[in-house]
Amino acid sequence: MRDMSNLNFSIKQLLEMSACTNCQVCADVCPAVTASQDGALSATYRMKGLNRILRSRTGLFRKLFRKKEPSADAWNQFSNTVFRCTLCGNCEEVCPVGIHLRELWLSLRHDLVDSSYYPPKIDMIRDNLDESHNVFAEDNEERGDWVEDMRNAPDHGYIKAKAEVVYFTGCVAAYFPLAQKIPMALAEILEFSGVDFTLMGEQEWCCGFPLLGAGLKDMLQKFIDHNLAAVRAKGAKKVVFACPSCYQMWREYYPQQFEIAHVTQFLLKRVREGKIPLKELPLIVTYHDPCDLGRGARVFDAPRELIQSIPGVKFVELSENREACKCCGGGGNLEMIDAGLSKEIARQKIEAVMDTGAQAVITSCQQCVRTMATFVKRNKVPIEVLDITQLVQRALDR
Ligand code: SF4
Ligand code: SF4
Repeated sequence: MRDMSNLNFSIKQLLEMSACTNCQVCADVCPAVTASQDGALSATYRMKGLNRILRSRTGLFRKLFRKKEPSADAWNQFSNTVFRCTLCGNCEEVCPVGIHLRELWLSLRHDLVDSSYYPPKIDMIRDNLDESHNVFAEDNEERGDWVEDMRNAPDHGYIKAKAEVVYFTGCVAAYFPLAQKIPMALAEILEFSGVDFTLMGEQEWCCGFPLLGAGLKDMLQKFIDHNLAAVRAKGAKKVVFACPSCYQMWREYYPQQFEIAHVTQFLLKRVREGKIPLKELPLIVTYHDPCDLGRGARVFDAPRELIQSIPGVKFVELSENREACKCCGGGGNLEMIDAGLSKEIARQKIEAVMDTGAQAVITSCQQCVRTMATFVKRNKVPIEVLDITQLVQRALDR
C-alpha cells in the first residue's frame, strides 16, 4: 500500500466528520444494520473507523501522537463494512448534524480503492465497464436488442439519426430480462403519445453510476464525455431516464447541456396536457420510492400524482414512505458484493409491502423492479411488482 494522504476527502467533509456526535440515530434507520443485525455496518461505526484512519495517516498528527497505521487486517475488515451499504442515504436524511453521509461514503470507497483495500468484485466492475461499457460485460452492440421482443416495433427499432428526445435506457433495463419490460413499456407510451424520441443503441454507454459506487471515480470522465457526444450527435434537446441512478448521475456529474427529466415528471406533464389518455384500471397499489429518485432527487410527488391520475387505481402508502422509504436492497452495488444481505433487505421491503394490503407494488426504477421481482418470484410471494411505466402502459386508452 502506498503512503496515503487524506486528499480524497474535501475540507468540508473533514469538518463534517469532526461534527459527528455519535448519537447513533443513523444506525436506527439503516436497512443494512436491520437486515444483518450487525452494528459494524452502521454509519456511526463507519464514522469512528474513518476518523481513526484519517488521523493515523496525517503526517504531523501521526508524529505528534505516535498514531500507528491500522494493520492490513483492520483495513480489510473496515473496507468490508464500507462496501456492504446500499448507499440509500437514509442515514444522511436523519443525521441531526446534517453530515452529507452518502457523498462521504462515495469518497470513502474511492479512498479505499486508492489504498488497495477493496472487495475483489470491484476489479470485475472495473474490467466490465472498461471493456464492454456496460456493467454486465455484455456486447454493447446488443444494448437495444430488447426492441426485437416488442410487437409492432418500427423497422428503425427506435434508433433514429435525429430526434428531439433521447431515451437513455441504462444497463439494467437494456440487459436484464425482468427489467426489459420497462423500456418496452416506455417506448410504447412515448410512441403512443407522439413523442419524437430515439434510443442511442450501442452508442449509449453506462452512465457511470456503478463506477462511482465502486470507488472508481477516476474512470467516470470517459463515460460522461462519450454519452454527451452521443446525445449531441442525435441533435436532441432533452434526455429522459426511467432509471433514477442514471438520472442522478446526469444531474450531479454531467455538465448541464440538455434538459433532463425522470420519466415520472415527463409522463405526468404529458398526462396533464391530455397527450396520454388513460382508461379505468381497478387495482390497489402502493409505491416504493427509489432511493436515488426520492431522497436523492427529491422527486416524491410526480410518481404519486401519475399513479393517481389513472382512474380506478386505489393508492395506499407504505408505513415508511417518501423521505423515510427503506431501500429495496438493490443499491450501492450491494448485490455484487453481498447478495445474501441484498436479499435480506429485499425480504424486509416485501414484508412492508404486504402489510399495506396492496395487490401491486409500483416503483420507478429498474433496479428496484429487478430486486423486488426476483425476490417475489423466488419466494412465490403473491404480489405484483411493476415499474410505473408498466402501470401507465396497462392503462393506455388505445
Ligand atoms: S446521525 Fe450523524 S451525528 Fe449521529 S452518529 Fe450518525 S453520523 Fe454521527
Ligand atoms: S447509506 Fe443506507 S445502507 Fe448505507 S449506511 Fe446509510 S442508511 Fe445504511
